[in-house]
Amino acid sequence: MPTRAARREGEAGPEPRPGDACAGLCPLCASSSLRLQAFRYAFRGRHLYGATCSSCALTFVHPQPAAAEIESFYRQDYYTECSAECGAHGPRAYMDLARDSTAEVARRARQVDRLLLRHQPARGRFLEVGCGPGFLLRDMARLGWDVSGLEISEFAARYAREQLGLRVEVGPLEAPTLPQHSLDAVFMGDVLEHLPQPLSALAAVHAWLSPGGILCVAVPSTLNLLSAQLGLALFRVRGRFKTLRIPPYHLFEYTPRTLAALLSACGFEVVALRQSAVPPGRMGLRHSPVENLAKATLQVGAQISARLCNRWGDRLLAVAVRRAH
Ligand SMILES: [Zn+2]
Repeated sequence: MPTRAARREGEAGPEPRPGDACAGLCPLCASSSLRLQAFRYAFRGRHLYGATCSSCALTFVHPQPAAAEIESFYRQDYYTECSAECGAHGPRAYMDLARDSTAEVARRARQVDRLLLRHQPARGRFLEVGCGPGFLLRDMARLGWDVSGLEISEFAARYAREQLGLRVEVGPLEAPTLPQHSLDAVFMGDVLEHLPQPLSALAAVHAWLSPGGILCVAVPSTLNLLSAQLGLALFRVRGRFKTLRIPPYHLFEYTPRTLAALLSACGFEVVALRQSAVPPGRMGLRHSPVENLAKATLQVGAQISARLCNRWGDRLLAVAVRRAH
């Protein structure tokens, strides 16, 4: 059991095992009943474990990397490189992929636009939290929204400002002080799972939105896949961890249940929570050919189950209305 904050790789002493209790508090419900998942990150000479709250089922990296380490993830190479050590954990470098995905980004913008207009009478003031280099923001402006962005990466924000002419502020979400009730809609696409303090982040968004304003959140949900649950169960019965040798970009692993609980705890009413699955051709498959083929095949099943019964997908898209209080 890792009673200390983190274990060094190769450190002497009893090895923790999946299912062991671990010390700490759940960031969502403050329960101290945490159990180790069967995965961990090998990161800068130590292990950071996946932990799940026995009370609310929230899964998160425990302990978290230091704030300076998290900040170091999002320098220029996050956008321009693609390796095990850096890059936005996709099949290609983020900027290359984004530049070649014009149609895909435009489709996503139309989807977000449609979702927002289902709950709002007209297009208004729109903020994208974690807007990166601003491609989606540009398309939302083209659709008629009054757009602005917030981005932690100086490199990405500069690109958005200088190349796309967008209004983008740099800084962590907690730092900017936007006027209360100054927004009609906020979009967070693949951002929430990267934030070390999601509750305070969502509290800031809640304050900025007008009452009745809409928050749209997209997150990956890998642990919601049956294939992931099966894979981790196999590690668990063998008493072993799946060790990930990439930086722990995702500090939280949300599921439909925990994403809805988090939004509700932060003053939002979830009005839609739609699951989908990444097409097999767009998965970042980095394993043996046999393992890659198995994962791709199971992913087709995930696409079908997500589409037909809104279950077992690895992508979540939530739409939530800001409650008055
Ligand atoms: Zn909890």
